[in-house]
Amino acid sequence: MGDLVLPLKTFYWKVNAQEPAEEVIKQAGEIIRQGGLVAFPTETVYGLGANVFDRKAIAKIFNAKGRPLDNPLIVHIAVLADIYQLSSSVSPLALYLAEVFWPGPLTLILPRPETVPAEVSAGLDTVAIRLPAHPVALALIRAADVPIAAPSANLSGCPSPTTAKHVWADLNGKIDAIIDGGPTEIGVESTVVDLTGAIPAILRPGKITPAEIEAVAGKVCLDPAAKGIITSFKTDTTSEKWRPRSPGMKYRHYAPRAPLYLIEGNVPQVTKYINELASRYQKAGLRVGIFTYKETAEHYRQGEVLVAGDRCEPASVAANLYRILRRFDELGVDLILAEGTPPVGVGLAVMNRLRRAAGNNIIRLGDNCWT
Ligand code: AMP
Ligand code: MG
Repeated sequence: MGDLVLPLKTFYWKVNAQEPAEEVIKQAGEIIRQGGLVAFPTETVYGLGANVFDRKAIAKIFNAKGRPLDNPLIVHIAVLADIYQLSSSVSPLALYLAEVFWPGPLTLILPRPETVPAEVSAGLDTVAIRLPAHPVALALIRAADVPIAAPSANLSGCPSPTTAKHVWADLNGKIDAIIDGGPTEIGVESTVVDLTGAIPAILRPGKITPAEIEAVAGKVCLDPAAKGIITSFKTDTTSEKWRPRSPGMKYRHYAPRAPLYLIEGNVPQVTKYINELASRYQKAGLRVGIFTYKETAEHYRQGEVLVAGDRCEPASVAANLYRILRRFDELGVDLILAEGTPPVGVGLAVMNRLRRAAGNNIIRLGDNCWT
């Protein structure tokens, strides 16, 4: 990775998300072809793209983000047939899932051929593939005329970017260009499904829920890491006993600068507990941020109270999640007390991100707390 040259400046191009200007897309596609890095909007979060077949360009992604080298990238294509460029073995189930859910927020893990550089998959013998639905992403992939490897366009560990401004804040001066297509719609990363085992395994929850996948694929299992809970933070990654199937899931991630405490349980207990904690911390002179929902916001009369969305509509929470985590940092709070939400449906994707942002700071109240 040694002698990577930083770009002299980062271009910032604003485009119409539905009909991006041709000159911008052409220039951005050329940057990718020449081995540069371009950040672009997808329907989930902003991605940081490079030519999948260019090893040096792939190294630049890890470098710009400060991403651990054992955290693999997702490869983006614009037409379904390109799946054959990226995988040596596309099962009928993989094709069926692709036909049902693509273009869209579903990533499929398939066997990796030698033609896809090992660095893309952090040395794994599998590769992650997605066909996104965003017009800018699709136009860029077509213009580049190669599949684009793209993780989220943030500094590693920070909340993922849902606006081009977030990308600018993290990566200005480290990448070649940013295409601003407005805020992303879904707000959390794609659902990742591993199709290399006997039963499809959901490694990372997203907008497409386990039930929706099961309705198409038959029985699926939930990888332990999908819940985002504490066991995935074991540090002994050399142990034979613990090898995550999705290496990225072992890191504390999506985290604002201020420590985040996630409080899980039923509403009366949780709101009471958060109020007590908030009073205590405020008395000690600390600025407290409270992450809450429309239905429960009125319980709080102190601190910086930010409403993420409707508790009963977790997709609305997903859409605002990262923007709000970044907002707490802008407000300069010393700590964040976050209310959990039931980890079902899209709520599972929200809780996966909140739990991982909390790291070990998860407080569970009550006997029949969610698992
Ligand atoms: P990001 O796009 O930044 O959300 O990162 C991509 C995530 O996809 C990684 O952190 C992994 O969790 C997952 N991923 C990518 N490739 C693979 C793979 N070959 N096997 C398992 N998980 C993968
Ligand atoms: Mg990421």
